[in-house]
Amino acid sequence: MPLRFHTCPHCNQRIVFKIEENDIDSSKYPAPVYIFHKSEMCGKSSTFYVDSLLRISYRELEKKPGAIKTLETIE
Ligand SMILES: [Zn+2]
Repeated sequence: MPLRFHTCPHCNQRIVFKIEENDIDSSKYPAPVYIFHKSEMCGKSSTFYVDSLLRISYRELEKKPGAIKTLETIE
């Protein structure tokens, strides 16, 4: 299960989450997934877009349509 390291677009803190193939709709790439920043200081969701290797392409502050899951950060 790949780990991904990035920053939260709301608070710019470092975040870590795990993502798998079945977390996204693979019918088109980049594919969106919602990321919930599990932090007392933040607690906001955003949308991350990943390519077919589940690498992050870009991110959006808002929850954009098309994601099928919300992943909680583990850090
Ligand atoms: Zn955050």
